[in-house]
Amino acid sequence: MAAERLIEHCPIGCEGKLVETAIVLPEGPLRRCGDCGQLVSQITARAYASSMKEFDTPRGTLPTRRTQRRHDARAAKLFGVVRTLVHSNPGAAVKLLDIGCSSGALLKSAVQHGFDAEGVEPAAQAAEFARETGLKVFHGYLQEAHYPASSFDVVTLMEVIEHLPDPGALLREVWRVLKPNGVLVVGTGNGASWTVGLVGARWGYFQVSAHGGHISFFNPNSLGILAQRCGFQVERSETRRVSLAEPQETGRVTYRLLKVAAEMLAMPARLFGKGHDMLTFLRKLPA
Ligand SMILES: [Zn+2]
Repeated sequence: MAAERLIEHCPIGCEGKLVETAIVLPEGPLRRCGDCGQLVSQITARAYASSMKEFDTPRGTLPTRRTQRRHDARAAKLFGVVRTLVHSNPGAAVKLLDIGCSSGALLKSAVQHGFDAEGVEPAAQAAEFARETGLKVFHGYLQEAHYPASSFDVVTLMEVIEHLPDPGALLREVWRVLKPNGVLVVGTGNGASWTVGLVGARWGYFQVSAHGGHISFFNPNSLGILAQRCGFQVERSETRRVSLAEPQETGRVTYRLLKVAAEMLAMPARLFGKGHDMLTFLRKLPA
């Protein structure tokens, strides 16, 4: 008997069928929703569960010394946009919740940027590491934290929703814990990017062996539809970056040439919403 696929229907909630694409991964070809373009893995529930386990380490997703400056620059930009979108009283603390905070890199930045910030993290070692550095972190899933309704001004959800078979369930809980007009920031990969068009199955982001539990790939359209179905409107959406090769798969010279070509494509990709990193700012609408 064939093992059960984890995802049998479009995770956005469309009626449309999932149709196999030419992007062939070890788990089988990715399938695409005919309505919204969402790409989904054919991974089994068992393989999905074991791929997630490998990623509970104390360091979690902390930046290295090499990537710290890039992390700081991105965080400054993200929190700058958030500040312009949050409607809070001047002088009042802005309450922020980072879901899937791992070992606390973004949470730490949020605190440094003046937010009253806390996190949620299901991976035990990463959550413990974050707590040891003085951050306030709930160990578990958002639904288990039972925050009162209207608790937060801002929720950040970075590199989380591509792991979820049912992202709508999480977004509806986020809607509940956000204050009226609250802001949700979603960061995820763009399955309709030029990177996907050009390198297809070789895109590192698709590799479940390298990125445990990446099973569902959004695009600006599918994320917008899901947001609307869960009570949000899109305030701002941007994409960035194109990549043509992963460092390990080509010789050094070829890799550098492809890197230059990718840098030339980065600006038009950003303009046309075809970059592979997608950052979307959503606002909670009234029920
Ligand atoms: Zn769909």
